[in-house]
Formats: sequence, structure tokens, C-alpha cells
Amino acid sequence: MSSDNAPLLRPRIVVLGSLNMDLLLRVPRAPDAGETLIGHNFATVPGGKGGNQAVSCARQGADVALLGRLGADAYGNSLRAALAADGIDLAGVQTDAEQPTGLALVMVDDAAQNRIVVIPGANATLRVEPATLTAALAGAAFFVTQLEAPLGQVIDAIEAAHAASCPVLLNPSPMAALPDTLWPRLDTLVLNEVEASELTGRPLRDPAGAAAAALELRRRGVQRVVVTLGSQGAVASDVQGSRFHPALPVRAVDTTAAGDTFTGALAVALAQGQPLDQAVRRGIRAAAWCVARVGAQPSIPTAQDLESLPE
Ligand code: ATP
Repeated sequence: MSSDNAPLLRPRIVVLGSLNMDLLLRVPRAPDAGETLIGHNFATVPGGKGGNQAVSCARQGADVALLGRLGADAYGNSLRAALAADGIDLAGVQTDAEQPTGLALVMVDDAAQNRIVVIPGANATLRVEPATLTAALAGAAFFVTQLEAPLGQVIDAIEAAHAASCPVLLNPSPMAALPDTLWPRLDTLVLNEVEASELTGRPLRDPAGAAAAALELRRRGVQRVVVTLGSQGAVASDVQGSRFHPALPVRAVDTTAAGDTFTGALAVALAQGQPLDQAVRRGIRAAAWCVARVGAQPSIPTAQDLESLPE
């Protein structure tokens, strides 16, 4: 932990996950089936849940090692350059000679609603050798992963992190059926209301529902659960109970990567030894910055950016 004048601890975080190039279309509204619509503009933007969470961790002050897979193509090259510019260690990012770099078609309308189609490409063939995983996890303060990479690989990596006594943060998105043996392996589970509802079979709309779902997930063996509730905020749940933290009131223009930005900022705070509630507040402030800007990785704040936001 830091004293008032010392720089905050710079933890090492290992992220395993998907890397996509986002083809971002700004549109007035989503087109109906059979309709042709004139959109506002187009941009290619680095994205993918693994890449976004790695960038969020790096910009919040962690030393990040990324495990992922790109295609041998122009999008792969520009993703590599963008991630390297954030100082992320890419030694564990493989190149697939046959599959293209993962792509996401992201359509954002004037109401800041997004509709996303992901083509996994090279992400679907990610396979990390156990020895590479073990080497990457040495000295790591946290292992962070999601479910856009192959499920078997994600589960193997969680087991490896657990065996190496490295705390695991799972963001189970997009949702998939998970084995019951996984829950006790998780230090922290960060999920949105839809995922929490799917996992627990409970309809869930408000902080009370999120707290009930989080308690059920903790009873399965997860140490700490955070349920994000979009513009409402998030619920933190641990052995001391559940607490609701409201979102910051901002004008949302694009919520793409809000959850990933939140997850990365929360992971860094936890890796720095901050209490869960403080980590959730940091996630909320980082995500507020993100939703007020367009695109995935370009809208992820640095620790310095957050100094201008209220606590
Ligand atoms: P996404 O899939 O869009 O990345 P998500 O569904 O994983 O996001 P959300 O619960 O929608 O996650 O959002 C994560 C966090 O982002 C919320 O807990 C909240 O702090 C912040 N957030 C999301 N939408 C807004 C908003 N409109 N205004 C302020 N903060 C927001």
C-alpha cells in the first residue's frame, strides 16, 4: 500500500482474452430488416473484451501481460501497434497464419444503444501452452479473463492461476455454461444484470435483485461478486454483505466497453490492495468517462483522466 506521497503500487496483471478490430458505425437508429439507412460516420477502432480490459488495466497503472491471438493481417498489425502503445507486454500474443483477426461490427445509434456482431476469427484458435501460462502468471497480482476466448482455454487458465495462488477475476461475458467446480476458483466475479439473471435464474432489475443474485453466486464459492447495473451503478457483495454504489450522472454517447473499462479499473484497484467498495467506485468513475465518449479503446481513461471526475 502507498503512503500519501509515494506513487501507488504498480501491480502486474495477466489478461487472457479476445482481440478484435471494431468496425464502428454511427447511425441515427438501427435499420429494420430489408431497410437501407444512411449512417453518420465510420471508424475502425481497437476493441475485443480481452484487449479492452488489458488497456483499462494498463491505463490505470498496472504492468499488463496479454495472452491472445491475432491474424496475420493489417487489422492484426494495427491492433498490435495500438496495444504496444499502451505499454502492454505482447510476448503472449500469438499470430494465426490462417484465421483473420477477430472483427466486431458495432452499430451505435443516437440513443447511445449499441448492437454488436462478433466474428471471432483467430480468437477461436487461441491455445496457450501450460508452461507459457505458468511463466506469465509468475509474480502476477491478478489474472483477469472473460468468455470471448475458447471456453476450455479460459477454464484451463483459471485452474492454472488458482494453482499458482494468483487471484482470478472472471467477467463471464458473453455468457456460457460454466462448470460448478469453477466458482470456488474465483476471487472476484464481475457481471452485468443480464448475466447475473441468466446465471441465477432470477429476474433482476434493481440493486436489491442484484444483491440477492450476488449472494447466491457467493454461496457457490466465489469470494466477491460485483453486479453492474448500467446507468444505475453497481452492487458490491462480499463476506460483509452487499452495498450499492450509484453511477456518475453523465451524458452517455456510446456504452461500448463500459463493462470492460469498469472491470480493468476495478482489477487494478484490487491488485493495489484497495477495499472492494473503493475498487467499485474506481470502476464506476472509469466507466463514466468511457460512456461519455465514442468507441472501445479510445474511450478508456487513464488514472490521471479520473482525477478530473468527482469521487
Ligand atoms: P458493455 O457490455 O456495454 O461494455 P456491461 O453490460 O458489461 O457494459 P453495464 O452494467 O452496462 O456493463 O455498465 C458497466 C458500468 O458502466 C456501470 O456499472 C456504470 O458504472 C457504468 N455505466 C454504464 N452506463 C452508464 C451511463 N449511462 N451513465 C453512467 N455510467 C454508466
